[in-house]
Amino acid sequence: MYQDPADPPVHNPSPGHTTTTVERGSFCLARCSCGWSGAARRSRDRARTDAREHLGAPEPQD
Ligand SMILES: [Zn+2]
Repeated sequence: MYQDPADPPVHNPSPGHTTTTVERGSFCLARCSCGWSGAARRSRDRARTDAREHLGAPEPQD
């Protein structure tokens, strides 16, 4: 396996990601410090789930 160490990652899933939820009208969406933003959701809880998925954490099955 050859991997070029000089190749810069486009989106590095590093701990530098800080997610927040932003309210827009009656919708809520997740935002990340890396520039990513999730889809508009009707519930903030759903937007938080989007943020979790963006960070790579497994979604808790309830
Ligand atoms: Zn991010």
